[in-house]
Amino acid sequence: MNIQVLGAHNCESQNSKFISLLIDDTLAIDAGGLTSSLSFQAQQKLRAILLTHQHYDHIRDVPAIAMNFFLQGTSINIYSILPVYDALATHLLDGKLYPKFLEQPQGNPTIKFTIIEPYKTEQIEGYSILAVKVNHAVPVVGYQVTSSDGKIVFYTGDTGPGLASCWENVSPQLLITEVTAPDRYEEFGRESGHLTPSLLKQELTAFQAVKGYLPQVVVVHMSPNLEKEIEAEIAVVANDLNNSITLAYEGMQLYL
Ligand SMILES: [Zn+2]
Ligand SMILES: [Zn+2]
Repeated sequence: MNIQVLGAHNCESQNSKFISLLIDDTLAIDAGGLTSSLSFQAQQKLRAILLTHQHYDHIRDVPAIAMNFFLQGTSINIYSILPVYDALATHLLDGKLYPKFLEQPQGNPTIKFTIIEPYKTEQIEGYSILAVKVNHAVPVVGYQVTSSDGKIVFYTGDTGPGLASCWENVSPQLLITEVTAPDRYEEFGRESGHLTPSLLKQELTAFQAVKGYLPQVVVVHMSPNLEKEIEAEIAVVANDLNNSITLAYEGMQLYL
């Protein structure tokens, strides 16, 4: 399994892109930085997009990719929970901001949207996909992706602390999760549903207690202007837990 980090941040600039992961060139998770990171040719290789939640930094490129698929006369499969469908249908793809690609062209819409249920394994484009609820300001599901040769990655999406019950449902070799801000923002993290390095340490300690091991950990969704501070604190956590924890960056390639 090859995982490419297309966007690794929660804010966009010339040097940072919104969250998007790409698995084996065909399966994307979150669409914050999809179109801006992929050529038209690479976009046409996409078979499905899984969306964790409705926040803008995770869905921003859905209208853009839909337009590109529409103009190619093709369609794209998108999977998520009901609130994400509602947010897209009501706002970004409401026919005012952009065409209603969830419904049009009539009878053969550009976006084939499937609403998924948490904790029910789905077979999507050759992968077993399990959506698992995490803790954030709006409903979010993380996705465990299992390839046909048994490689397993779990991406939490945006989440705050309290993941012990989540860990019971997943067994990843690679965990991709979020750390949005350094430890001095812990109160903000608890209120808004984000992790800091110390909060991540607690969650990983809980993971080890539940599962008996620690996976390789890659962190995304950093605030770019706080990244140096996050990086220093993550290094301490990695050392304390004697485990690999690295910050993702745009263009990072991970192999399982
Ligand atoms: Zn969010
Ligand atoms: Zn976010």
